[in-house]
Amino acid sequence: MSDVLAVTEHRRGELRDVSYEVISAGRELADATGGDLHLAVISGDVEAFADDLDREGVDYIHTVDEGEEFNHDICVQAIEALHAELDPQVLLMPNSVNGLDYAPAVANRLDLPLVTDAVDFNYDGGLTVTREMYGSKVETTVEVGGDRQAVTVRDAEWPQAEGVGDAEISAFDADIDTDTGSTVTGFEEVGSGDVDISEADFIISIGRGIEEEENLDLIRDLVEATDATLASSRPIVDNGWLPKNRQVGQSGKVVTPDVYLAIGISGAVQHVAGMKGSDTIIAVNTDPNAPIFDIADYGIVGDLFEVVPELIEEFE
Ligand SMILES: Cc1cc2nc3c(=O)[nH]c(=O)nc-3n(C[C@H](O)[C@H](O)[C@H](O)COP(=O)(O)OP(=O)(O)OC[C@H]3O[C@@H](n4cnc5c(N)ncnc54)[C@H](O)[C@@H]3O)c2cc1C
Repeated sequence: MSDVLAVTEHRRGELRDVSYEVISAGRELADATGGDLHLAVISGDVEAFADDLDREGVDYIHTVDEGEEFNHDICVQAIEALHAELDPQVLLMPNSVNGLDYAPAVANRLDLPLVTDAVDFNYDGGLTVTREMYGSKVETTVEVGGDRQAVTVRDAEWPQAEGVGDAEISAFDADIDTDTGSTVTGFEEVGSGDVDISEADFIISIGRGIEEEENLDLIRDLVEATDATLASSRPIVDNGWLPKNRQVGQSGKVVTPDVYLAIGISGAVQHVAGMKGSDTIIAVNTDPNAPIFDIADYGIVGDLFEVVPELIEEFE
């Protein structure tokens, strides 16, 4: 067999963009392996989801009608059962919060080599996967061994599949054991807190370059002088220096201000995913090779502890 099985994703009744992206990634791979592309649609309104996912390039859609929201146990059992039935060459899963929850468990149970966060791949009798490391500074190509492989794909790397397909849609009986000890009782959004940064026109965002929590006062002075909105990269939130509602990026908020001033932020893909739609991007960083400069319209290579006081003086 040389088929590809791609797992789709939904949240609160809506298919997520990555579901259409795994179709494009899966089709590309299935063309290379010379097999069919199968999609797994697990939980939620599976029939409506399957209709929506029936896009160009999809050969088969298998629905597992069990539960509403994402549930680790249901997902793992459903994928394991589908894999046993279809025996695909490659199992593709989103490199999302959900995907990273179940993919290692699935790979472990199926005894598959797993490569996460793929940004590209190539199949030529064997599978090679491209992934980035060290904040996108290094690109690695991984030759994946084993008879069968599992890969999680980074979101927004493949285009979203379009067109109307002609897939065979069928319900799959995965024989799910629901008595696993875990129950999903609901879905709660993290509160938006005091400020909704996704509404801001001018954002000043601070990253790990700030070094210490006390130094944030310097950035607050700049925010005040410019009447901007304060945001940050994830480490600042992880350190507890700013609340979660200020985090920009893949696991934070997506922002599209007129101006995004990134100070001491390297420009990791997970951060860029949340701010690349800004009209004008300005970066301050001591490292001239920081990836943030690749997307910045204006850049200042310099020490923020020198640059920011000068900016405050200018604005005042
Ligand atoms: C699943 C997943 C989800 C993630 N989600 C997010 C997310 O939503 N948002 C997010 O931001 N990250 C996210 N990350 C983390 C992300 O990979 C990076 O680790 C993070 O963005 C790095 O933050 P940073 O740029 O502040 O820190 P670093 O990468 O450490 O960069 C600090 C930068 O500051 C510069 N610097 C140091 N000193 C100075 C100075 N004195 N003056 C000027 N510049 C200086 C350095 O040159 C460096 O470029 C996620 C990671 C994973 C795996």
